[in-house]
Amino acid sequence: MKIDIFGMFVHEIAASIQPYGLPKFRAEQIAKWIYQHGVDDFENMTNLSKDHRVLLAEHFVIHTALAQAIEKSTDGKTSKYLLRFHDGMAVETVLMRQPYGNSVCVSTQVGCAMGCVFCASTLNGITRNLTAGEILAQVLYVNKLLQQEQAHVNTIVIMGSGEPLANYNHVVKFMRVIHADYCLNISYRSITLSTSGLVPEIDQLANEGLPVTLSISLHAPNNEIRSELMPINNRYPLVEVMAAANRYAQQTGRQVTYEYILIADVNDQAQHAKQLATLMRGRLANVNLIPVNSVIERGLLRPSNKQVQLFEQILLERKINVTVRREMGSDILAACGQLRHKVLNEINID
Ligand code: SF4
Repeated sequence: MKIDIFGMFVHEIAASIQPYGLPKFRAEQIAKWIYQHGVDDFENMTNLSKDHRVLLAEHFVIHTALAQAIEKSTDGKTSKYLLRFHDGMAVETVLMRQPYGNSVCVSTQVGCAMGCVFCASTLNGITRNLTAGEILAQVLYVNKLLQQEQAHVNTIVIMGSGEPLANYNHVVKFMRVIHADYCLNISYRSITLSTSGLVPEIDQLANEGLPVTLSISLHAPNNEIRSELMPINNRYPLVEVMAAANRYAQQTGRQVTYEYILIADVNDQAQHAKQLATLMRGRLANVNLIPVNSVIERGLLRPSNKQVQLFEQILLERKINVTVRREMGSDILAACGQLRHKVLNEINID
């Protein structure tokens, strides 16, 4: 069976090609071809000898991703791709053209086991983890498109389908590879990892020496509401998650972001904002309010603009750092998992 080299560190490529008589320095050339130039055919690696190219094609393969469906927002700023891997599994990847650069949101699992009630990614449970190469393939797919307009990926958010810390080793490897100078050389500070709150893995990540921004999916100001919205809260209650986030901030010096999806009549009332402000007091943290993209299957509704403003105002008055996320691509089903779910329903294979 041929070995897939996509997603490997350069030293792993070197170790893989060495038994076939290829010198170590070829590994960096190969890595640059596949990661920086988007080449997925050894034949096109023109600085390798013909013999080496044939040898590589005999023993190795480069599995990337292909687009199965694409949706673009009417303002052209958000594009969502359903990307398919070699075994036919597909995940969503989103390009957001922000004022500060091009941001890509990647998935880390096919589906998700966490069961958050506001999320379409978990409607059919989890199928499998993605490999580091499959997470990387999503960024490089978008980067290749951007290269055609002399642009590139600037920031990465690990916030698509899947719980990244439940696929810990592959996600950490992905971050290390994308940071490497033979890949896209993305700084760790330009990567945000979002978790539903797996406490042991948050502590593990704090000790990796990767100063990525940690984003906690909080979504509720107390255990009662959080357990209703996010079953994981029964295993790691809110206070434990916030203590782990504090340790992360202290260890890395990075401000933690707390994501809070606002759902009408569930967690968007004045008393919830006041409770949230009390929780946040004195923390190195930023609260990001996200009016929910209605998930029809779950019957969850977006609050009115007035209610969103009121919620924000209560936090501001209490000196909490707060932003309201600009709603990008709501006309293309921007909530995670919705495009995949729609396509799977259409082709009736899920
Ligand atoms: S919000 Fe994230 S962790 Fe929760 S079910 Fe969706 S993908 Fe999984």
